[in-house]
Amino acid sequence: LKEKNARSFWHPMAHPADSLANPPTIVTGARGVRISDVDGHEVVDAVGGLWNVNLGFSCAPVKAAIAQQLEALPYYSTFRGTTNDAVIELSEELREFFAPDGLERAFYTSGGSDSVETALRLARQYHKIRGDAGRTKFLSLKKGYHGTHFGGASVNGNANFRTQYEPLMPGCYHIPAPYAYRNPFGETDPEKLSQLCLQALADEIAFQGAETIAALIMEPVLGAGGVIVPHENFMPGVREICSKHGILLIADEVITAFGRTGSWTGSRHWGVQPDLMCTAKAITNGYFPFGAVMIAGHVAETFEKDTTGRASIGHGYTYSGHPVGAAAALACLAETKRLKVNENAAARGAELYAGVRAMADKHALVGDVRGGQGLMCALELVSDRAAKTPIDKSTIGKVQEAAYQSGAMIRVSGPNVILSPPLVLTSDDVQTILTAVDAGLSAVA
Ligand code: PMP
Repeated sequence: LKEKNARSFWHPMAHPADSLANPPTIVTGARGVRISDVDGHEVVDAVGGLWNVNLGFSCAPVKAAIAQQLEALPYYSTFRGTTNDAVIELSEELREFFAPDGLERAFYTSGGSDSVETALRLARQYHKIRGDAGRTKFLSLKKGYHGTHFGGASVNGNANFRTQYEPLMPGCYHIPAPYAYRNPFGETDPEKLSQLCLQALADEIAFQGAETIAALIMEPVLGAGGVIVPHENFMPGVREICSKHGILLIADEVITAFGRTGSWTGSRHWGVQPDLMCTAKAITNGYFPFGAVMIAGHVAETFEKDTTGRASIGHGYTYSGHPVGAAAALACLAETKRLKVNENAAARGAELYAGVRAMADKHALVGDVRGGQGLMCALELVSDRAAKTPIDKSTIGKVQEAAYQSGAMIRVSGPNVILSPPLVLTSDDVQTILTAVDAGLSAVA
């Protein structure tokens, strides 16, 4: 397997020095919150697949629903006027689930990047239908992550994910994120920092001209950028500014929807109703590639009342509304609600956060610890605390390797260790993760 892997499978995200790639970690099994590899290791998956396996890997009702749907209707396109019973039932369930977020209608995709692309395209179309064709620009947060398509890459806030693909979509502007550890204002107080970032947003809008901006896209808690939890005033402040200027607010909840933050959605946690919401990942928990863009009633109505014919043109995927994906999503949603995974995310998340905070006292290479909002945690590692020098790639790779040998798969991304385990883990599993992270940090001390 290792030879074949090296010969024919291309891994663009794996650096040759990456401890998972060399020798390659070949995952051959998964049960509950644990994965096992070809070399016989079994560890707690503190990555949760990739922030998506909220219910763990052995969810019987989901497997049964998929098997049943494969028998009844394995596939039919919803690209034109056709639909199917599974996707209709799912839409009804999502409508109820997202009602407190003011979202009524669902458009289906094959994953997070497709959901982002859809939301960006809908935002442009929305303004065109309303006769506001000049509104074409997009705003987003530095450190935000919005996937790999050209639209998503253009609004990505991390320059590393943009520069090698330039030229990207013109008219995308990135404003400072409320990242207290490092920010252009040198501000560490979360509330003051939030105000400064909101002011930067207002200034950018004034500079660009509100009448040129289609939408702002943001994650309610920034994930891949290193788990940045904004102050409680931040997202409501963004909502207020967007509403004032007729700018659509797109919540990218590919990670945060379905309970990861401890609330059912990140937007709901901050008391905000977005105009569009991108979801994917936990909607099917990894059992099927799937996503949904949830659409507010007033946005959907604009499309429905369109007499220009523009609304129906040009957006849909071969796999939009895939019945097997819909059946998987329906079963996942039922389990998600039945198990109240958001409550476990909040309780276990508090234990995990307290544990990693304690590690900052013990290990000098922990520069910052972020999280405290459900099961999203990050430790930012530095080689020099006072100078905040980011840790180098090979050292953080050793942290990952030692943690793996000590019982947990963790994710390293830039200078960050990111923890996003399944939401159904127990307190014992949290302890296993903490012990493994501690071992990882001790290995390079
Ligand atoms: N948006 C966010 C917030 C994400 O975290 C991700 C993936 N990590 C995406 C979009 C892209 O999703 P996908 O990888 O399913 O295309």
